[in-house]
Amino acid sequence: MLASFIMSATPLQLTPTRLSGNQSCGTQPSGTQSFDTKSSGYIGRFAPSPTGPLHFGSLVSALASYLDAKATGGKWLVRMEDLDPPREQPGAASAILQSLDDHGLHWDGEVVYQSQRSHTYQACLDALLQAELAYYCTCSRQDLATMGGIYDRRCRNRQVDSNQVCSVRLKLYDLQDRFTPELIQFEDLIQGTQIHNLRTQAGDQILKRRDGFFAYQLAVVVDDIAQGITHIIRGSDLLDVTGRQLFFFELLDAPLPQFGHVPLAMQANGQKLSKQNHAKAIDSKLASRNLWRGLEFLGQNPPADLAYASTSALLDWALLHWQRQAVQGLGHLYQEE
Ligand SMILES: [Zn+2]
Repeated sequence: MLASFIMSATPLQLTPTRLSGNQSCGTQPSGTQSFDTKSSGYIGRFAPSPTGPLHFGSLVSALASYLDAKATGGKWLVRMEDLDPPREQPGAASAILQSLDDHGLHWDGEVVYQSQRSHTYQACLDALLQAELAYYCTCSRQDLATMGGIYDRRCRNRQVDSNQVCSVRLKLYDLQDRFTPELIQFEDLIQGTQIHNLRTQAGDQILKRRDGFFAYQLAVVVDDIAQGITHIIRGSDLLDVTGRQLFFFELLDAPLPQFGHVPLAMQANGQKLSKQNHAKAIDSKLASRNLWRGLEFLGQNPPADLAYASTSALLDWALLHWQRQAVQGLGHLYQEE
C-alpha cells in the first residue's frame, strides 16, 4: 500500500466505524461518464481553479499529469475547482480549457465542475457529522492565529449551535474509541518518502467554511474518489496537504491514489509563479514553444530541433520519452518572456 500509517505497535484500525462507500461520499459526478479502465487502470487528472488564465506554472502541472497518464495508456480528466466564487475570474474556466486545447492537451470525458456538486459535498459532510468524525467550530481566523496557525481542536467537545456562524472541521487524529496515528508516511512518485504529522503540521481541517462555501480539502478528496483517480500529479505547493488527504481517503474507505509533486515555477524574487502574483497568461500562439519549455522545465531534455515542431509532434516525442524520475526538485527559477 502506498501510505502506511506509522505508529510502532498498533495497526491502523479505522474499519469498524469508518464511512462505507454507500454512505453518500464519493458517488459518481453527474454528467460524467464512467470509464472502462481495463486497458491500464490509470486515471489521472488536472484540477485548476478558475482564478485566472493558465500560466506557465499551471501548464507544467497539466503537462506532467497528462504525460504521466497518457504514457501508460491511462485516462486524463480535467476538473474545474470552482468552489470559491469571490476569488474566481469571469471567463477564466473557459480560457483555461481553451489553452489546454490549444496546447494539444485533450482530456477524456466531460469536464467536471465542482460548483455543480454541492449536494454531494453536503451529503458527505452530513455523513461525517452523523458519524462524529466532523464537528462545528466557531473559531475565527484571529483565534487560529493565536493558536500559531494550527487548529488546536478546541471546539471538538463544545456544544455549538449550528445555526450560528461556524465552520465544519474534520477530526484528523485522536478519534474516540479507535486508534488514530498522527504520523503518515507515503512515497511520493517524484519527491520520495514523506512523513507528515497531522497534529503539528495540519490540525483538524475545515470542510465547510464559515461563509458557507465547501472547502477544497473536502471537495478534492470526494471528487478524486468519485472519479476513480489513481494517480495525482500536481504542483509541489500541494505536497504539504497530501498527508491529511491520504488520511481522509482512508477514513472514507477509498483506495489510495498515488501522488507525485512536480516543481513549481519560481520568480527571481523567490515567489511562486501564480495568478495571485499576476503571472502572465500563457500565449497559445507560442504553444509549441511553451510545451518545449515545459518539457525542459520537467527535466525531459527535449531535442532542440523540436522547439518549433507542431504541438502534436512535440507531445508524441514527449509521450515516447516521458521519464518521471527525470523530474526533480520542489521549484526552479523561471524567467517569463
Ligand atoms: Zn473552533
